[in-house]
Amino acid sequence: MTNLAPGLLERLKAAVGPKGWIAEPDAMAPYLNEYRDLYHGRAALVLRPATTAEVAAVVKICAEGGIRIVPQGGNTGLVGGGVPFEGGDEVVISLSRLNRVRAIDLQNDTITVEAGVVLAAVQAAADEHTRLFPLRIGSEGSCQIGGNLSTNAGGTAVLHYGNARELVLGLEVVLADGSVWDGLRGLRKDNTGYDLKQLFIGAEGTLGIITAAVLKLFPKPGDVQVGFVAVRDVPAAVELLGLAQAESGGRVTSFELMPRLAIDFVRRHIPDTVDPLPTRYNWHVLIELSGGRADGGLRRTLENVLGLGLEKGLIVDGVIAESEAQAAALWKLRDSVSEAQKPEGGSIKHDISVPVSRIAEFIARASTAVEAMIPGVRPLAFGHLGDGNIHFNPCQPEGADKQAFLDRWEPVSHMVHDLAVELGGSISAEHGLGRLKRDEITRYKSPLEIDLMRRIKAVLDPKGLMNPGKVI
Ligand SMILES: Cc1cc2nc3c(=O)[nH]c(=O)nc-3n(C[C@H](O)[C@H](O)[C@H](O)COP(=O)(O)OP(=O)(O)OC[C@H]3O[C@@H](n4cnc5c(N)ncnc54)[C@H](O)[C@@H]3O)c2cc1C
Repeated sequence: MTNLAPGLLERLKAAVGPKGWIAEPDAMAPYLNEYRDLYHGRAALVLRPATTAEVAAVVKICAEGGIRIVPQGGNTGLVGGGVPFEGGDEVVISLSRLNRVRAIDLQNDTITVEAGVVLAAVQAAADEHTRLFPLRIGSEGSCQIGGNLSTNAGGTAVLHYGNARELVLGLEVVLADGSVWDGLRGLRKDNTGYDLKQLFIGAEGTLGIITAAVLKLFPKPGDVQVGFVAVRDVPAAVELLGLAQAESGGRVTSFELMPRLAIDFVRRHIPDTVDPLPTRYNWHVLIELSGGRADGGLRRTLENVLGLGLEKGLIVDGVIAESEAQAAALWKLRDSVSEAQKPEGGSIKHDISVPVSRIAEFIARASTAVEAMIPGVRPLAFGHLGDGNIHFNPCQPEGADKQAFLDRWEPVSHMVHDLAVELGGSISAEHGLGRLKRDEITRYKSPLEIDLMRRIKAVLDPKGLMNPGKVI
């Protein structure tokens, strides 16, 4: 049921045709609930336009009728940005039918894709042409490029290739009044005023709807080498990163921190996983080097890095994958950490970043503080050490009441976020603000910065219809 005028709904339906809307409650459900099950929204209608012109047409009708819009990609976001509120008078605009690869320019090393192309399909299209599209995240089989750009997604190759933001040359955007900004330029140099595309990247759908993008392609690396090492402690892991970068000439693609607890969780709950080392250690790093030709040079480089790490006492044990299958098994350990937490009960999740030089201090202080707050808590700190991005997820004490533990979310988060900010960090490294951290961010950004964001929003979305109540 909806309190929107029936005439408006009929106009929206007509603009997208019979295949372009969903009003039946069961069919709408996947668009209304988010991945972590934190939010369960309602909507007047789910719209599934198939072209940029259709997106523009429905946004224009919404602008005229004052209808609030929630853009949605693969709905894998982790901060509740892509689902509507509970009121039932918003419309969801799903971009999933805008799923064409529009062009590939191999001399320019670019690919032009529509917003609804699934990330894995962009990777595959690049691969078919012996190119690499290097954005790599756990949800790549279902998230869409429009969502990736709108959240400025990170993942496990940021260290070498940058966030989603760094991989974009041009955008096409439907603005809040239904006009279409064609910024689909494939230029690596273009200093002609403000770089408008950057406003929409990371805006989580609050400034406009991304309908297409020109993305950078890279040479496919001739060789990829993956190692898994146990390190003395977290400071040793940080030192090892510097050593690996120096010895490999900057070829470290991924440098992922894994504590003992993460490996235990994965081994316990995810089938077909193995502990790569015979002895139990507290801290591990998955390290990937890539680049160059397939002549074995990179293998020697990784051996050299690990040999030096052992000599310096940074590494205590380690293996190098002997095959693609072994490399995949090592990555499976890392990629399964999020999933393996669920059967362990409640966990209070954080996605913080600090300068790499402060990571060890962050993990030590945050762990001590949360242990003092909740005796028996199991602090789980893992993730993209190479980017200074740690997922710090205290897990409930074994056998404790899940809800009672989750009721401590706010004080625990304040402690974690206060510490990250004290160390020069951010309370959201890669997931965005969405609904989850919209209020929390006002504790940390200066009033001037919040005001600047509000002023930009007011200029681009004067009626406040684009994903209202998210981000700011
Ligand atoms: C298992 C798993 C692993 C993950 N790993 C990572 C990771 O390593 N790194 C990381 O950064 N994230 C990760 N994520 C989070 C998530 O996958 C990313 O944020 C992803 O970029 C979201 O894409 P999506 O298409 O699902 O967007 P959605 O969830 O649909 O939307 C996300 C936000 O973008 C807006 N939006 C979507 N499409 C558009 C558009 N075309 N125009 C304007 N606004 C739009 C929505 O309104 C919403 O605010 C993970 C999630 C899961 C479930």
